[in-house]
Amino acid sequence: MKANAIRMHEYGGPEVLQFVEVEVPDPGPGEARIRHSAIGLNLIDTYHRSGLYPGTLPAGLGSEAAGVIDAVGPGVSAVKVGDRVVYTGRPPDSYSEYRVFPAERLVPIPDGLEDEQAAAVLLKGLTAWYLLHRSYPVNPGDDVLLYAAAGGVGTLAAQWGRHLGARVIGVVSTEEKALLARQNGCADIVMAHDDIAARVRELTNEKGVAAVYDSVGKDTFMASLDCLRPHGVMVSFGNASGPVAPFAPAELAKRHSLYVTRPVLFDFVESRDELLAACEALFGAISAGVMAIHVNQRYALKDAAQAHRDIEARKTTGSTVLLP
Ligand code: NDP
Repeated sequence: MKANAIRMHEYGGPEVLQFVEVEVPDPGPGEARIRHSAIGLNLIDTYHRSGLYPGTLPAGLGSEAAGVIDAVGPGVSAVKVGDRVVYTGRPPDSYSEYRVFPAERLVPIPDGLEDEQAAAVLLKGLTAWYLLHRSYPVNPGDDVLLYAAAGGVGTLAAQWGRHLGARVIGVVSTEEKALLARQNGCADIVMAHDDIAARVRELTNEKGVAAVYDSVGKDTFMASLDCLRPHGVMVSFGNASGPVAPFAPAELAKRHSLYVTRPVLFDFVESRDELLAACEALFGAISAGVMAIHVNQRYALKDAAQAHRDIEARKTTGSTVLLP
């Protein structure tokens, strides 16, 4: 069948994204075809577009979407035609009206959650889940520092972190984002243009924080190390400003036996059992009111390039969806 999708033939700026008609195959063994109703936008999509995370060209784009199953291949028992499902995974190709995907990576959307909300929350919410429960499991009373606290992952992680009893200190770039971050769980705010380590020391009576969740990367890595208490954990999970430069382990010794981890979501949800357990934790927290989902921007799928311009210019807050 024919359907519209975003394709790119070279890496580069948002202008490489083309809205074209493509052939969508029938699902093969173990696969299902999904008619997308909402597609999640993630900053990681811009890394795939620019070539920071290269694949093979020509390529599609996008790592999560929600929709309805319209066909299944042989041997599929996990899902059936008509089911509402959401997924995150590779290769990037969810900027499309239809998509064929392995059935065992599809997650049923619980009643009470709209397709749009599911597409807005899966990748970002599972990231918040592993950051706070695995990379550095927060304890009640912990001080932690969270970058991009008004962004997609940040809005969810701040709310969940507060629920777990942490005092979340958010880093944001504007007053408008500071207000949003406070409304979404941050007890204190540090402005991105401030001396971040000095402000964190001030806010923690010189102690430093138990963990830093740093998605900015290149520009903030060393300052983040300076924010940590002895034995603190540096969770470097993104590259908004570019990839982190190589550094000497002695930097960790100098700051009193720090730990560094560079996690990737898919390592935490590799098997179907792990994926479903993590989703249960996420959807359970949402239905219990721990987290509200804020879809603050919507774009037509054909306007994906504009969505990329806006997220890269730090203009978006909360979650963003593309609508086919
Ligand atoms: P966001 O909605 O958080 O958007 C990015 C935010 O990063 C901006 O709004 C901005 O917030 C901040 N930022 C700081 N410096 C820059 C910069 N130089 N350029 C652009 N933005 C900057 O995006 P997502 O929620 O999609 O992703 C958040 C981060 O999490 C990304 O770095 C992403 O790569 C990472 N991630 C990592 C995963 C993993 O498993 N490792 C999985 C999912 C996401 P402000 O203006 O307030 O500073």
